[in-house]
Amino acid sequence: MSRRLGPGKLVIATHNAGKLKEMNALLAPFGTECISAGALGLPEPAETGASFTANALIKAHAAAKESGLPALADDSGLSVAALDGRPGVYTADWAERQWFEGPAGRDWFMAMGKVEGMLCQLGPDAPRDAWFTSVLALAWPDGEQAVYEGRVDGTLTWPPRGTMGFGYDPVFVPAGETRTFAELEPAAKQAISHRAAAFARLVAEQFDA
Ligand code: IMP
Repeated sequence: MSRRLGPGKLVIATHNAGKLKEMNALLAPFGTECISAGALGLPEPAETGASFTANALIKAHAAAKESGLPALADDSGLSVAALDGRPGVYTADWAERQWFEGPAGRDWFMAMGKVEGMLCQLGPDAPRDAWFTSVLALAWPDGEQAVYEGRVDGTLTWPPRGTMGFGYDPVFVPAGETRTFAELEPAAKQAISHRAAAFARLVAEQFDA
């Protein structure tokens, strides 16, 4: 049994508004006072790890050290079976608008199109199986840590459908569903998502739930 979170403040070490919203909602029932790394003005560390776990730990330890509070970070991404698990830890990078004129930033439609283009190059029968992974890392200012992982399997569809959620949600149809993540109400997505699965593991160990 790892160290447990007491009641009190917890830094959510993400600058991603979509993730922050989902993590706040998932933690709301436990009375944890969530503060975002953005609100504290914490810098975003470079995600130089080769795995979701390594990157989640980098973010959680950096935020815990800077803030002096326990910190929770999520590293997540989409893996496509026919692309040997890519984009994987590079999921966000594939959306980076680096070759075009205009403001820098992330273009999720471009990223979804890149995945679709690579699948099309493999031919019409290329398997469309994919999965989202979420690794939650909890770190304390003294360096102690705990890691929880969750995954949701599904298939990729094209064209994108739905306006809810974020990132690759409009092209991901979770197993057993006909709607994409972006067509599901937030509560329905949260009942089955990779982040919810990782959270269930965290909650089982950290809270008396
Ligand atoms: P990172 O964890 O901040 O490195 O970002 C991983 C990227 O994976 C996110 O920016 C999203 O685009 C994508 N991603 C992670 N979780 C989800 C999800 O629940 N829906 C859609 N895209 C996601």
